[in-house]
Order: sequence, then structure tokens, then C-alpha cells
Amino acid sequence: MTGKEIREKFLKFFEERGHRILPSASLIPTNDPSILWTAAGMVPFKPYFTGTAKPEMLRVTTCQKCLRTPDIEEVGRTARHHTFFEMLGNFSFGDYFKEKAIPWAWEFTTRVLGLPAEKLWISIYLDDDEAFDIWHREVGVPAERIVRMGKDTNFWEIGVGPCGPCSEIYIDLGEERGCGSPECRVGCDCDRYLEIWNLVFIQFFRDEAGNYTPLASKGIDTGMGLERVASVLQGVNSNFDTDLFREIMDYTAGLVNREYGAEKKTDMALKVIADHCRAVTFAIADGALPSNEGRGYVLRRLIRRALRFGRLLGLNEPFLYRVSGAVIRQMADVYPELPANKDHVLRVIRSEEERFGETLAQGTEILNRLVQEARNAGRTVIDGREAFRLYDTYGFPLELTREMAAEEGLTVDEDGFAAAMEEQRERARSARQETEYLSEAGAFYKSLREQLGETRFVGYDVLETGARVL
Ligand code: ATP
Ligand code: MG
Ligand code: MG
Ligand code: MG
Repeated sequence: MTGKEIREKFLKFFEERGHRILPSASLIPTNDPSILWTAAGMVPFKPYFTGTAKPEMLRVTTCQKCLRTPDIEEVGRTARHHTFFEMLGNFSFGDYFKEKAIPWAWEFTTRVLGLPAEKLWISIYLDDDEAFDIWHREVGVPAERIVRMGKDTNFWEIGVGPCGPCSEIYIDLGEERGCGSPECRVGCDCDRYLEIWNLVFIQFFRDEAGNYTPLASKGIDTGMGLERVASVLQGVNSNFDTDLFREIMDYTAGLVNREYGAEKKTDMALKVIADHCRAVTFAIADGALPSNEGRGYVLRRLIRRALRFGRLLGLNEPFLYRVSGAVIRQMADVYPELPANKDHVLRVIRSEEERFGETLAQGTEILNRLVQEARNAGRTVIDGREAFRLYDTYGFPLELTREMAAEEGLTVDEDGFAAAMEEQRERARSARQETEYLSEAGAFYKSLREQLGETRFVGYDVLETGARVL
């Protein structure tokens, strides 16, 4: 089954069960300053769960574009993590609850996708007996394959907002995919038990202070990772080996006359480049731009990290914009915003590549020297001030320096980095104050105030002619 077929089957399954299919929302959340990116299918529907907006439909199904920066260093390390990925989901806004969500998830997984029931494991939140009963009594999952797990994995929340206990479906990919530890079981970080679907039972609201209050109307929010399901159905060893990724990686490999699958280091670079390129392509098409803070910084970090892996493959000229072209070709029919914004996306990536390309080589050389110096002096830490100089002068995000240092077995003095950053901010602040004071306009208004004293705007009540406004 291709990625495209899985997407379609999922949406159709829930459409047949009374859900309206909605297009993916933007990766940039609207009206939600608490988060930088849409990181899950439920993000666009938060107001429906909180009750601040009324949905047109109580049942909705989507394939949502998601971006998760916290997973950036997992990319290529695990077989299952991306920064950008697609999440399939079905949602109930105060309509059905666990009694329908659980049996439907089972039916879709076993009947439509045809995954073997005996390899599926279920996790539930510690005290969620209601979920246990439905999985065990109604669906018929043996009790020994239902595990109770704690808050870190089985309670879902993103900042302020609706949240609740979860129940997940895992598939056992076999001992040979595992870490071999006698402790290895569902929830282990290795690749044996693959989490494919998370069902969130929205029952509470979390406020700024971290208090949980029950919601008047309960809801369902589920998320199934498209790339993961594709890897299982296509019988391959990682998400990167599915049809959703291969074309992109083969394209990049073709640029350097190499092949995916021949060498570990090359594969890692191809995976990171494909992953980050998908993320930046979609993010820029949705209106984000590289910059030094917030969302823009994330983009910059993704692009620069991809470029560094590109250098490892010998890609010294701008290339990422070309990979982006491959991403757009691959996804164009499902996401029309990509072809619609193609020129813009490629231009932004290319100019960022040119900008960083100039300093990457110099910065890398300096970092190598720092590593050598630290080693010679018997230190295991890179000076924070030097790391800051790499950031400030050569555009190395701290994370990049940290990662490159870690490859050499060193760490970075991050307190020193932060102190140098603060000093520079302070310098910028006082420089700004001085310029403001000296600026012509500033001087003009200052002298006016001195001459006239404080003034008050009266135009809301009185016109220039002296007549009162009615
Ligand atoms: P994991 O434990 O593997 O990191 P998660 O518990 O963080 O996953 P959820 O927040 O429950 O993931 O998201 C719902 C589903 O989205 C997951 O079951 C998985 O199929 C998919 N998913 C989550 N994170 C990623 C990712 N970084 N890349 C690809 N798919 C993901
Ligand atoms: Mg995770
Ligand atoms: Mg998990
Ligand atoms: Mg989960």
C-alpha cells in the first residue's frame, strides 16, 4: 500500500462513519501564541475542545502536516522520527467518546490495513479502567497485551489547553528489531515496539498554572503517523525506506553519484537532508521565513543542519533548493500549496544556502581548531565564548556546535554561551538607547516637549474648528 493509498483509506473510513474530511491546516498555528508550530492533528481544533468556538461538524477527519523540533536529533537515529510528518486523525467534539473511538481504531488497523492482531499491543493510562474494559471485553485484546503506562507517555497535553489520558496501539516488529535488553518491552526507545496510533481521550483542561479541570463535553483526538504505518505495510525497516521518502533520498544520492543503503554515514546524511528539506519546504510554503528568532530560527537551524550533512556528502554548492524541488514534485498532488509557492520556496532556501555557505567552511575550521585545543589542554568542554563567536560571526546555531562537538566527544559550556549572548544584548541595548537619543526625530521631539510641556490628544471630542464631536 502506498503512502497515498493509506491516506485515502483512512479518510474514507472515517468519512463513512459520519466524519467530514477537512484539508490540513497550516504548519503555522493561527491565534495561538503558546506554540510555534502545528505539532499534532488536534492543534487547529483546540477551540472546539475548549468550547471557545463552535464546530460546524461534531466529527472530523484530517491528514495534518506536523512539525516537531524536539525530535530533530532523533531523525536518522531512530527508524520512526521526523521533524515534519503527516498525522492522520479522527476527532469528536463532544460527540462520541471511547466506546466508538477504540473499536474503530481496531477495525481500521486490523481489517482495513490488515495488520496481524496478535502482534498488536495496547497501552493505556494508569487508572483508565474504562479504556481497559473496552479493549479487553469488547474488542477482545488479551489482558497481557494491554499495558498500563504513566503520565510521560500516556497523558497528552501541549501547553495550555485541552488534554487527557491516551491509549496507544503498538506493533511488535520482532525480536530482531529490538535492542536485546531483557528490559525491552512496549514503550522501549528501540525499534522493536513501534507506536503507530495514539488515541487521546480529551477530558480535562490544563490552565497556565498547571491545574486540570474536567471539560463539560468530552472529545476524541487521535493521531496515526502516516510514515510509520507505511513502513509497516511496505515491510521495510524504517520510515525512510517507504515510498514517501525514497524518491527524495535517491534524488540527493544521485547528486553525488552515490546510492542509499550502501553505507551507514551516507544514509544518515541522506535521511537528515530529506527530513529537514521536507520540513523547511512545507514551512516556507506556509509562510515561515528564516530569521534569528522563534519560528525563523527553527527554519534556519534545520537548513543549516541539512547543509552540514550535505557537506559530509561533498555537496559544497547550493543543493538543498534542488532537493526541495524533489519534495514538491513528490507531494504536489496532495498539497497544492507546494506547487503554488514553488518559486518562492526555492528562492528562500537558495538564498539561505548562499548566505550560510560562505561561513560554514570557516566556522567548521574554527570549531576543529577549538576541539584540537581543548584536547591538547586535556579539556572536554568547548569555551562558551568561542561557541558564541561561532554563532554570532559564522551563523552556527548553538545546537549545531553542540552536535559537532559531541561527535568529537566534547561538550559546550552553555552557561558561558548564554553569558556572552547576554553581554552582547546589553551592548546592543545601550547602543540603541544612544542612537535613539541622538536621532534627529528624537532630538526634535525632545526639544518640543521641553518647549511645550506635556500635550494631550483631544481630537476624539473636539474638532479643529472648535466644534464638539457628537
Ligand atoms: P514516540 O513515542 O514514538 O516519540 P509520540 O508518543 O511522541 O511518539 P504522539 O504525540 O502520540 O507521538 O503522536 C501521535 C502519532 O504520531 C504517533 O503515534 C506516531 O505514529 C506519530 N508520530 C509522533 N511523532 C512523530 C515523529 N517525530 N515522526 C513521525 N511520526 C511521529
Ligand atoms: Mg515523541
Ligand atoms: Mg510515545
Ligand atoms: Mg504517543
